[in-house]
Amino acid sequence: MVAVAVEPTHVIGVDLGGTKILAGVLDREGRVGRQTQRTTPVSSTADLLAALEETVGELLEPGGIAALGFGIPGTIDQGRGRVEVAPNLPLAEFDFREWMEKRFGLPVGMDNDANAAAIAEWAIGAGRGTRHMVMLTLGTGVGGGLILDGRPYRGSVGAAGELGHIVIQHDGPPCQGVCTGRGHLESLASGTAAGKAARELLGPDASAHDLVREAQAGNAAAASALAEIGRKLGSGIGSLVNIFNPELVVIGGGFAAAGDLVLDPAREVMRREALQPARDLVRIVPAVLGSEAGLVGAGLVGFEALDS
Ligand SMILES: [Zn+2]
Repeated sequence: MVAVAVEPTHVIGVDLGGTKILAGVLDREGRVGRQTQRTTPVSSTADLLAALEETVGELLEPGGIAALGFGIPGTIDQGRGRVEVAPNLPLAEFDFREWMEKRFGLPVGMDNDANAAAIAEWAIGAGRGTRHMVMLTLGTGVGGGLILDGRPYRGSVGAAGELGHIVIQHDGPPCQGVCTGRGHLESLASGTAAGKAARELLGPDASAHDLVREAQAGNAAAASALAEIGRKLGSGIGSLVNIFNPELVVIGGGFAAAGDLVLDPAREVMRREALQPARDLVRIVPAVLGSEAGLVGAGLVGFEALDS
């Protein structure tokens, strides 16, 4: 008698954030079933791995899970399955994929968290049906993800899509974290940049959220500060449109809550900077998946590992 293996149809996706680990069971359509979450321990690599082990263990179904996928806030070397740099996690220079494959005996996919969010928006969100899509995630930093010719683009080792680090202003304000650059999109059009504008305008305790609320309530100075951030964003998008000729640019992340207060000025400057016909064809739209994008994208990366 020949044993017939049950074909596993589900994966576990893990969105490993700097403060929270969110994990769930997903099917191929990106539908999320059982979920679990816990605080991210950052005290040591061993503590973090133990928490990930526990998270995955909680969701494993014998014979039912075909692969694991992880979204990680850091720079990934896809060839070696290694986390190179992860500013908020004790995972730098760690051979993550090998460790997980050994521990669970399943195929393991991993990607940068912004790439994972882009993959999710492309597969089941705002970018569904497109073949050429750029995503920018506006949070504390600015993350990026590229879908080119119907597939995620990762560069030679997996470090591509760092769209927050394109130069908007030569010799501009210093960038954040491990980046030594100046005048990058991340220093000019992130939630952090909006927070800085908020403090200058509304007082030392004000946040990006306050700036958006004030602008929505009719505060002209707050609206003008957001518009200026939007114009810088538009400069960056203009360059991306010239390089990639995407059908769609999707804007996500917490600061995307500013909506058209930022996106309308961005659209205006993009139309000035980008060339025809690309500028007339592209649309700039908000993301639709919200905070679940990271989890869904991680799961889809798991399916990619399974199919490769
Ligand atoms: Zn930078």
